[in-house]
Amino acid sequence: MSAASNALKKYFGYDQFRPLQEKVINSILQGKDAMVIMPTGGGKSICYQIPAIIMEGITIVVSPLIALMKDQVEGLRANGVSADYLNSSQNTQEQAEIIENLVAGKIKLLYVSPEKLVSQDFYYLLLQLKVNLFAVDEAHCISVWGHDFRPEYTKMAYLKKQFPHVPIVALTATADNLTQKDIVSQLNLTDPERFISSFDRPNLSLTVAPGRDKFKSILGFLRQRPHQSGIIYCLSRKATEGLAEKLRNAGVNAAYYHAGLSAEERAKRQEDFINDEVPIICATIAFGMGIDKSNVRWVIHYNLPRNIESYYQEIGRAGRDGLKADTLLFYSFSDVIVHRKFIDESKLKEVSHAKLERIQQFCDAQICRRKILLSYFGEHLEKDCGNCDVCKNPPQLFDGTIIAQKAFSAIVRLREQVAAGTLIDVLRGSSRQEIINKGYHQIKTYGAGKDIAHQDWQQYLLQLLNLGFITVAYDHGNALRLTEQGREVLFGERLVKLVHLASMKSDPVIKPIEKKTSKQLDREGLFEALRKLRLQISRDENI
Ligand code: ADP
Ligand code: MG
Repeated sequence: MSAASNALKKYFGYDQFRPLQEKVINSILQGKDAMVIMPTGGGKSICYQIPAIIMEGITIVVSPLIALMKDQVEGLRANGVSADYLNSSQNTQEQAEIIENLVAGKIKLLYVSPEKLVSQDFYYLLLQLKVNLFAVDEAHCISVWGHDFRPEYTKMAYLKKQFPHVPIVALTATADNLTQKDIVSQLNLTDPERFISSFDRPNLSLTVAPGRDKFKSILGFLRQRPHQSGIIYCLSRKATEGLAEKLRNAGVNAAYYHAGLSAEERAKRQEDFINDEVPIICATIAFGMGIDKSNVRWVIHYNLPRNIESYYQEIGRAGRDGLKADTLLFYSFSDVIVHRKFIDESKLKEVSHAKLERIQQFCDAQICRRKILLSYFGEHLEKDCGNCDVCKNPPQLFDGTIIAQKAFSAIVRLREQVAAGTLIDVLRGSSRQEIINKGYHQIKTYGAGKDIAHQDWQQYLLQLLNLGFITVAYDHGNALRLTEQGREVLFGERLVKLVHLASMKSDPVIKPIEKKTSKQLDREGLFEALRKLRLQISRDENI
């Protein structure tokens, strides 16, 4: 039996590792940096706790919430592991005692807040310790455009500089491509191994409904789910208060929660919810991180979340016990306007706007919602889920393979460098100045999509995006890129079903697939273009 399995049994009482846990542990034991993305409840803690137990020295764990640290430390101690935490809730005397134990080498795991970690005195303390690992929990807090951004998380680059030989493991439940990149670059991770488990949560049903008569809809929803526990996310503090009051007036036992409440009041409401004394909570996004309640049966978004990561993270709080749970999102344009205003006042406007647009597209789509959600995180779901509002009421589809091939071929020939607008202009053979100046009119697929109107192309591209055949590089001017599945479509190995556009008078593609397809596409030329492009991209990524 390996040392890791031994420790799992001895300290945690479990016989088997969950998928990925053992791989992460082995990688850390070899001294490598790692990035771990596992759903909430997936068992991330053990990934760094077991190396901490096995290795000589001390592991420093960065954790954003005091309540979380306390839980973890108490849990570890109950299992016979010496652990402690340092944060602002302790007085000088308490801190001095802990520091004494640390320096004496009596503690295996130390939990600290990010504020503490980046402070000068903590740095001096670190110099006196034999640190074997830094574990950055809830690492998505590093990204400004992710969820729960914490500025202190962005100051942690010094760890790698000052302690280049200490491995760092970053852990989170939600990080799209861009957030992952951000985590790697901000923590200065050296060629980290990535351990990413599936984002799929098949027990969650996904529904998007128009944001009309919301209160009435909620009452109907609750009537079908008596005695169940759930969370209603609202955009503003005021809305949480108003909604909770209206619910109570309607005889529903509900409380509200937001960051404007005192710490004690927040702790109490959280307890009441966890103990099922108040089954329903109307909350801002301040509610949730680190709340370990397995029987949340539903999550409602009273307002549109600001991006898909936030949405995924919030619905992820339902059904952690693996049993069926329902999610409902109310979508209204007025929420989009509110978000736009927030974003305009913030930094990094472009990316945030693009991400907001992406969740609007998710809501507007007529494609299996789970498919869209998973494709956003880089996963491909072969079959529709059958369990979302779109699957339950499916639209009419047609064979859109040729349309897709035209678009994909142009994307590749344009070296995956252009956004949708330019791509459509090329497809439609526009002779506007930029197209000519850049020589785009000389590529083979120039004008190949003349028969489709500009706005229809937009709709099709959106569908192809939602289907996971293309992605948007938000950090490269929203350039469109092909995914693995997109490439299969391009080379005729996969068919594409698109939703009929109501606006279309005649359907340009109900014609049989033309025999000349592959010749028209000039397979050889495309392969060559694609090969060069991949080389280029892999080189860029190595820099
Ligand atoms: P995360 O941080 O990913 O949300 P945790 O580390 O808090 O998840 O773990 C969630 C729960 O799963 C905990 O109760 C933990 O004890 C349990 N767990 C972790 N690993 C295993 C395992 N290998 N076998 C059984 N239970 C496990
Ligand atoms: Mg955790």
